[in-house]
Amino acid sequence: MDLTEGLPDLGALESHIGDCHRCALGDTRTRLVFGVGAPGAELMFVGEAPGKNEDLQGEPFVGAAGKLLDELLAGIGLSRSDVYIANIIKCRPPGNRDPERAEIETCTPFLEEQIRLIDPRVIVTLGNFATKYTLATDSGISRIHGRLFSVKGRKVVPVFHPAAALYTPSKKDVLAEDFQRIGVMLEGDECDEPVAAPGEAVAEMATGPGETAPGPPVDAPDAEGPGDEPEALRLF
Ligand code: SF4
Repeated sequence: MDLTEGLPDLGALESHIGDCHRCALGDTRTRLVFGVGAPGAELMFVGEAPGKNEDLQGEPFVGAAGKLLDELLAGIGLSRSDVYIANIIKCRPPGNRDPERAEIETCTPFLEEQIRLIDPRVIVTLGNFATKYTLATDSGISRIHGRLFSVKGRKVVPVFHPAAALYTPSKKDVLAEDFQRIGVMLEGDECDEPVAAPGEAVAEMATGPGETAPGPPVDAPDAEGPGDEPEALRLF
């Protein structure tokens, strides 16, 4: 079955993926991690790839990082059942190495289809890898976390990966602040306001009408030179 015409729902996509061995990770994984959450979620999280615990349990973000994610969600009045959580790559790379280009190219059409079917208002990328891939940028997460990007009509907010925040208390505080902004954005109308278009770099995330959230400084779009800011979302 070809994905280009689109599938009717997530169940059909999961069946389509099946016991996938389209890339080499299919031979080394324990369980494929499809994703969990509400099929019509307004908020979708995209991480990198399953880790050891996820590989064993078949669910994204379990263990200590998953517990922190649950706490952050609770802090903005949400639970896992309110959102959708998936990864760029559906199977664990051995030893938690970075996914290879061929693996990404083979697997990401599944994530693209998930995003199309869920149609979230906001995508939150968790950590450097998911952010750099999603926004097609070389900018590190420390520089662009908490900012609101708009690419092809979708809002994308990069934040620190919960696993990184576990080991660095200051990152945990920043992550919690970024989640508060996401919560405010979801509650208000800000999500429907125009933000930066593809190629127009970054917009600050507003906390309310006429108000700007405290947070990381917003550099001039050309601060790092042309092409250094996110310009195109490779996922959709
Ligand atoms: S990583 Fe993706 S493409 Fe590779 S085997 Fe797993 S599901 Fe299939």
